Amino acid sequence: MFEKILIANRGEVALRIHRACREMGIKTVAVHSEADANAMHVRLADEAVCIGPARSAESYLNKSAIISAAIITGADAIHPGFGFLSENADFAEMVEEHGITFIGPKPEQIRLMGDKLRAREAAISSGLPVIPGSPALQNIDEAREWAKKIGYPIIIKAKAGGGGKGMKVAFNESDIETAYTMARAEAKASFTSDEVYMEKYLQNPRHIEVQILADSFGNVVHLGERDCSIQRNNQKVIEETPSPALNQKQRDEIGEIARSAVEKIGYSSAGTLEFLFEDGRFYFLEMNTRLQVEHPITEAVTGIDIVREQIRIANGAKLGYSQEDISFNGCAIECRINAEDPSTFAPNPGKITEWHAPGGLGVRVDSEIYSGYSIPPYYDSMIAKLIVSGKNRNAALMRLHRTLEEFVIDGIKTTIPLHQRIISQSDFINGIYDIHWLEKLLK
Ligand code: ADP
Repeated sequence: MFEKILIANRGEVALRIHRACREMGIKTVAVHSEADANAMHVRLADEAVCIGPARSAESYLNKSAIISAAIITGADAIHPGFGFLSENADFAEMVEEHGITFIGPKPEQIRLMGDKLRAREAAISSGLPVIPGSPALQNIDEAREWAKKIGYPIIIKAKAGGGGKGMKVAFNESDIETAYTMARAEAKASFTSDEVYMEKYLQNPRHIEVQILADSFGNVVHLGERDCSIQRNNQKVIEETPSPALNQKQRDEIGEIARSAVEKIGYSSAGTLEFLFEDGRFYFLEMNTRLQVEHPITEAVTGIDIVREQIRIANGAKLGYSQEDISFNGCAIECRINAEDPSTFAPNPGKITEWHAPGGLGVRVDSEIYSGYSIPPYYDSMIAKLIVSGKNRNAALMRLHRTLEEFVIDGIKTTIPLHQRIISQSDFINGIYDIHWLEKLLK
C-alpha cells in the first residue's frame, strides 16, 4: 500500500481525504496557498508545503508546484479531490510521468469524458440513452438548422464545459443567435475550447446520477443513485438517496445500465454517471471522473468508504465484492452549507466566532471550520456539508430539521436558513421537485 499521499486540494475535501488516509495507516502531505496556512487539514497532515499565493491559478492549479511538493516529500501518490486539477488529464499525465500514482482514472479516460461530445459518442456506443443533440456547431446557421431539426427549446453547451458554465437555452428562433453567441463567449472565457453543440432542452427533468466503482481488472459495481435536482444556477444545493422519484424497477434498471456502460468503456476508479430523468425516461448527461461533493450520502446508505476504495483501486487492488454484496440501507440527505447571505447569495467570508456542529446518530458533518478560523475570500463559498441518514426518508427529514436547528455558525452569514426553508415546503416533503423547483421558490 502507499506510504504517503499528497492531497492536492483544500477545504473540507482535503480533510475528508486526510481522514481516509489516516484510517488506512497512510501518511499525508497537505499543500496549501499562503491564505490557507491555518486550515485544519494543514494542521492535521504529517507534512505541509506552501505552494504559492492565495490565487488558485498560482497555487491549487499550479501543476509543477504540486508535483515538486510530492517529489520533495517523497509522496507515492496524489489525490486530487474535486474541482481544481481533479479532471485535468494533463496533470494526471504529468503525475504519472514523475513516477507518482494519480488517484483517479487514466488520463485518456479523463480526456474522453472531459470532452462532452466525445463522451456522448462513447455513451451511445456503450448503450446509454442520450438526449437528442447535434455535433459541434461551426456557425450560427448550423445552429439554426439543428435547432429546427431537434425542435425548440434547445440548450447550447460548451464541448469542454463544466460547473454549469457555457450553457444557454433558446426557447424559440428569436433566442438562438444570442444563446449561441453567449455560450461561445462564455466557453472561450472559461475553457480551453470555445466549441459548442446543442441538445434538446428538457423542461422539467430531475437530475439523477449513479455512483460507480471500477477496479483495473474489469470489475464494476454501482452504489445506487443520488437525486440532485435541488439546484440553483445549475449548482446542486441538496442531494438525497434513494431518489423519491424512482420505483425499485427504475432504480435497478438505471444502476445496471450505468454499471454495464462503465464496464464497456473500460474505466477504472470511482466515477459518476449523470442523467436527466423526465417522463419515466433517463438521458445520459455526462460522466464525472472524480469524487463528487455529494459522495457521503452514498457512503451513508451503503457503508462503503468511497475515498478508501479510490485509494485501494489506484494501488492495484481488486474490488473484492460484487453487485450482489452491496446492500442499501435507509435514506440519506446532504445540505451544502455556503458562507453566503441567504437572501442575496453574496459571498460572506470572515472570521468564525462560534462553531457548534450537530451530532448524534445518523449525523455527519464534513467541514474544515473551527472556532476562530477565518474563511479566506478567494475560494468556493461551500464551508460545510451536513449529511443525515435515517431508516426511511421521513426519519432522515426529521433529523435534518433537528440538525439544521442545532448547527451554530456565528460571525458570518450562511445558507442554513435557506435549507430550513426548502425542507419545510410540502413539495420537498413529498419528494415532488425537478431541477427548476428551487429557482421558482426563490422568485
Ligand atoms: P456541467 O458539466 O457544467 O455541470 P451538465 O451537462 O452536467 O453541465 O449540466 C448541468 C445542469 O444543467 C444539469 O444538472 C441540468 O440542470 C442542466 N442541463 C444540462 N443539459 C440540459 C438539457 N439538455 N436539458 C435541461 N437541462 C439541462
